[in-house]
This record gives sequence, C-alpha cells and structure tokens, in this order.
Amino acid sequence: MLQTNTSEFTNSTTDVLNRYLFDNMHVRGELVQLSTSYQSIINNHNYPVSVRLLLGELMAATCLLTATLKFEGDITVQLQGNGPVGYMSVNGDNNQQMRGIAKIVDAEQASAAQSLQELLGKGNMIITIKPNQGKPYQGIVALDKPTLAQCFTHYFEVSAQIPTQVWLFSDDKKQQVAGSLIQLLPDGDGSSENLAQQQSDFEHLAQLTNTIKADEIFSLEAEALLYRLYHQEKVSLFEPQVVSYQCGCSSDKCLAAITQMEPSEVEAILVEQGKISMTCEYCLTTYDFFAEQLKSFTSKDKH
Ligand SMILES: [Zn+2]
Repeated sequence: MLQTNTSEFTNSTTDVLNRYLFDNMHVRGELVQLSTSYQSIINNHNYPVSVRLLLGELMAATCLLTATLKFEGDITVQLQGNGPVGYMSVNGDNNQQMRGIAKIVDAEQASAAQSLQELLGKGNMIITIKPNQGKPYQGIVALDKPTLAQCFTHYFEVSAQIPTQVWLFSDDKKQQVAGSLIQLLPDGDGSSENLAQQQSDFEHLAQLTNTIKADEIFSLEAEALLYRLYHQEKVSLFEPQVVSYQCGCSSDKCLAAITQMEPSEVEAILVEQGKISMTCEYCLTTYDFFAEQLKSFTSKDKH
C-alpha cells in the first residue's frame, strides 16, 4: 500500500528525485530518473557511447548522494584513473542542480572500452562534500569493483557505516539515466535481536529492488514503480524534487578567480594576449576580460 504525503505530484517521469520511507522497516529509499538534464550534460561534447553511459550513471549516483545532504552545499564526485578516460566529474548541489564532464585521453581506446575498469583503468573515486558554511570533507574509495553502482555501495559502507545499496541504469538510445538507493536507518534499542531484524528487512528490500528492470525505471512514474517493486510494503513517498542542469559558472566567479592571481601575472597575460580568457571546463563557455575591466584590480594591488 502506497501512501503519499503530498497531493501535488509532477506528472513527468524525467528529471525528478523521489525520496521515500518504508514505514514499518527503518529503511529509506531514493529514486532518480533523468533525461533532459542528462542530455544537456552530454550534448556539448563528442563522447563515445561508453563514456556517455558511464557519465550518466555517475550523474544519477551523484543525485542520490546529494539527496543525503543535510545542509546547503554541493558534492563533487570525481573518477580518476590511468585508463583512456583520464577523469570524469559530476557536481551537484542541494537544489539538485547538476553539471558534469569527462576528460578523454585516448578516444580510440575509450570507444572500444566497455566496462568501468576498461574506461578508467586503475583509479579512485573521490567524493568532495562542500557545505556553503564550514569545512569541506573528502572521501576516497578505489574503483576496484566491476560496476560504478558497486563502488558507490562500497563508498556508503565505508563512509556511513550503515547498510546501503545503489542501483544505476543508463540507456544511450533513450538518452535516459536512472538510479535507486536503499539505506538502513539505525533505530531501536540497539539489541542484537533488533539489529538482526533490521538487517533482514534491509536484505528483503534489497532483493525486491534487485528485480527493477531498465525499461520499468525508464518508463514508470515513481508511484507506479514503487508499487511494482514493494506493493506488499507500506511506503511513504515524499514530495519529489526537480533535477536540472545548471552549470553555475559566471563572469563574476571568473573575475573572482583572476583577483586571486598575482597582479604582475595578470598584466603579463594582458600585454601578451590583449585579454584574459577563461573557459569553464564543464559547459565550455568562454569568459573574456580586457585590460579596461581589470584596471582597478591590477593598479590597486600594486600599492
Ligand atoms: Zn560553465
């Protein structure tokens, strides 16, 4: 039986993050389904299919991860390795505004690669959690599992130390990506009996979630999908959150970066090139700054 805590639901199955709670089980869940925001991330770049698929999985996983943020801030998940893809990075904030990029070092090899290992080689997943107020936190796990979903599951095991499982899907023809997560919410008196019951509930839900089929997660709305998976359980579905593509770069942020440079260095570039050009690595927008705009800063800092 599916309960809903809100009367207003978006009718779109795309670009939405849903959170829910298994009422009698101390387990929470998340479901993310993306298309337009994913297409915005891959459209400006000429990535091979295998890279598009993995970047999509990384995007879905980063959405699931940012949904766990309990403060305003953002999370960057970077995959780094010695394979044909040098790195892959997705950044998202508590408003579910996402951006992402892949850096390919060998296009031919990347096109032929199929698995996470073949694409990234030996490497790590680096997760940087940056609150708007306060110190950033970084976690690193090796990319030593066969799939990205398993690497994320491993990350949660290590960092949160509570049973968590992640499922990721991406489809190049449909240009859709999706993901799901379930996580145990430790509760009760902490007795071994209680813990054993919670563990067994979690495993039961993990088995049910394992039966998700790609065509279902890409076509069914959250309510229908949760009913299909957990119709014997009591699930409370919270208000969905819209996920969007938003780079977040701006002329002001670039200018702020320039003011961190040595004034003499800025002047040298201006003399040589007539301007300072900065290109956003995520969306490839180029911001140009000319001597006139930088005058106050270069002359002021001289004294
Ligand atoms: Zn940008």
